Amino acid sequence: AARHLQDPGLCKAGAWIGGRWVEHGPLGRFKVVDPATGEPLASLPRLGEAEALAAVAAAHAAFASWREQTAGHRAERLRRWFELMTVHAEDLARLITLEEGKPLAEARAEVRYAASFVQWFAEEARRTYGEIVPAPAAGQRILVTREPVGVAAAITPWNFPAAMITRKAAPALAAGCTMVVKPAEQTPLTALALAELAHRAGIPPGVFNVLTTHADEAPAVGRVLTQDPRVRKISFTGSTAVGKILLRQGADGVKKASMELGGNAPFIVFDDADLDAAVAGAMACKFRNTGQACISANRFLVHERVHDAFVERLTAGVQALKLGHGLEEGVQQGPLIDDDAVAKVAAHVADAVGQGARVHTGGRPHALGGRFYEPTVISGVTPAMRLATEETFGPVAAVMRFAGEDEAVALANDTPYGLAAYLYSRDAARLWRVSARLESGMVGINTGLISNEVAPFGGVKESGLGREGSRHGIEDYLEMKYLCWDGL
Ligand code: ADP
Repeated sequence: AARHLQDPGLCKAGAWIGGRWVEHGPLGRFKVVDPATGEPLASLPRLGEAEALAAVAAAHAAFASWREQTAGHRAERLRRWFELMTVHAEDLARLITLEEGKPLAEARAEVRYAASFVQWFAEEARRTYGEIVPAPAAGQRILVTREPVGVAAAITPWNFPAAMITRKAAPALAAGCTMVVKPAEQTPLTALALAELAHRAGIPPGVFNVLTTHADEAPAVGRVLTQDPRVRKISFTGSTAVGKILLRQGADGVKKASMELGGNAPFIVFDDADLDAAVAGAMACKFRNTGQACISANRFLVHERVHDAFVERLTAGVQALKLGHGLEEGVQQGPLIDDDAVAKVAAHVADAVGQGARVHTGGRPHALGGRFYEPTVISGVTPAMRLATEETFGPVAAVMRFAGEDEAVALANDTPYGLAAYLYSRDAARLWRVSARLESGMVGINTGLISNEVAPFGGVKESGLGREGSRHGIEDYLEMKYLCWDGL
């Protein structure tokens, strides 16, 4: 991968533990591959329980001094990290495209998004104010301070290899916590480049650690990160199934947890919507990262009066998408992350077609072969189909039809998930009313793009616990301490 970078020093061959690059492990090495070609990009040491314990020990040792730094000092280091991410944005974007597959333009946008969390929490570091509460008794003072929770662990997914790390690490470090990150096995190179930049930014040894772990060792490393008493908090982004495992494992130690889990986002188009805007929003929301985002629209619920027109225009948009290697100019759709992802998309499509759904475009593996799947539009989807009940995580727009507002809300909420939802209408009263009735943590109103650093990102129901980003995002890394001071 290094030959694609302006600064080859950002392409690392080992994990970053306690301020040292660990290039060898007892279990050999594992390969990182380019999902567009299947070609190996790098090989990294396969670390397990022992190295996870070493990283926790390093983070624990570093916590003692990091928490004692002034907020201004931590803010300044984070600010430098942000600036270095900006200077090296092109290299970070290339690493993301190489190991994750998304088109370079999207990778560049992810780097800006990832860096925005570091900038934001550098600013928020200095605003972790306490309180003085009017006391109930004479001679007393009631004070509330906010302290870092301690060592925090992060387990992150492959689909946003940079942003899913900075969204956790920046508030953690700003609050005075130290962190051990276990990135997804598919995308460790971006995580290691971030570690190198954190080091260059003067973030001290042990404050930010990155493990390199093969999928087979993820459970053992996950057990250390959820069960070691020195780790006080686990923050996870990934599937609901794994989130539940981690919550169970952390329960014995009453570990604090933030969970950003799966979604099954409805995208509702009412008959009074601006249809062109709805189609543009649908394209952006559904096909970004080839449909591999937890807030990607999973079900398009379209009013019967505009259904056919919506499907026709969406189909035209989808047919115009250019597929290819993400580093190629003009490519808008990359591959899926691995063969299992392709198999899941194919199975969902086959299940829908078997139950009578209609394919308007796509519906097959793409002629490019490998992990490329044709961007697809399917109508006639019903609540019984896997496209409607499960997160497809691929380039398939599944369209259902509805007749009234109550039906739309009932369909939208008919899922154990509750991450994002999207609404298109010109009627402000309806938008307000429906937004209030939707069981989701986030609502896009006349837009398909909702992610930014200033707003609280997170879900309800089985989509998660806690919020990331915004002024609330640092709360998950702070604990209140109440001081009752008497005799004054
Ligand atoms: P996805 O379907 O997006 O790959 P996963 O939930 O499987 O989602 O993976 C997200 C992250 O969780 C990855 O870093 C992966 O290695 C990690 N992971 C998977 N299984 C476990 C486990 N049993 N314990 C800890 N981490 C795990």
